[in-house]
Amino acid sequence: MTTILELNGVTKSYKQGQEVLTVLDHISMQVNKGEFGAILGPSGSGKSTLLSVIGALTSPSNGEVILNGRNVHTMNGKEQTSLRLKEIGFIFQQSNLIPFLTVEEQLLLVGKLIKQKERLQERALELLSHLGLAERSSHYPEQLSGGEQQRVAIARALMNEPKLILADEPTASLDRERGKSVVELLVKETKERHIATIMVTHDESMIRDCDWVYRMR
Ligand code: ADP
Ligand code: MG
Repeated sequence: MTTILELNGVTKSYKQGQEVLTVLDHISMQVNKGEFGAILGPSGSGKSTLLSVIGALTSPSNGEVILNGRNVHTMNGKEQTSLRLKEIGFIFQQSNLIPFLTVEEQLLLVGKLIKQKERLQERALELLSHLGLAERSSHYPEQLSGGEQQRVAIARALMNEPKLILADEPTASLDRERGKSVVELLVKETKERHIATIMVTHDESMIRDCDWVYRMR
């Protein structure tokens, strides 16, 4: 097994006036390639904060995050931006698609942000057809169902061939059946691509196919 992500004693506290609120308290974990893991916990337990720290969107107060052998929080801002663009795919509760771009254009846009621009359109169309969206490639987000929008968000997250997918409540705006099929798709892509995915959820029914579950209180 190859470790792709390692957390060592990650702590995150916020100052609130005189008080200090410790949201993450010495979290250590290892994630291997090919694993689909879930972080489960009630609202306010720090799940999104943990994903933000892993994805270099927020600095930890203490501890380290090692992604693909590199310490994420000792990099400069430019290196972090490049890391987020090339090595991490983000998926959120709302698909956050751009309303005036077609499905295909959503993918081309993230592809254009990286240096390696070969076969962009070909790769976008391959991904869309792989995710069952071939017929939707020239549609706008408002013409899609919630489940389809989330599948486009998955395709967009995969466009730059990341090593790690961070999904924050990707099923929360979907009904149970559509939610389950989004999770199944994420599991399948994780295994096929031999990448790692961490999914945050508060829904016990979404964790059936997980390789591991981390519970937050
Ligand atoms: P979850 O995603 O599990 O619902 P969050 O990670 O969003 O939880 O939040 C965990 C706790 O941290 C909450 O009590 C929240 O109010 C607090 N928190 C999150 N971000 C900040 C911030 N930027 N400043 C102060 N407190 C914050
Ligand atoms: Mg959250």
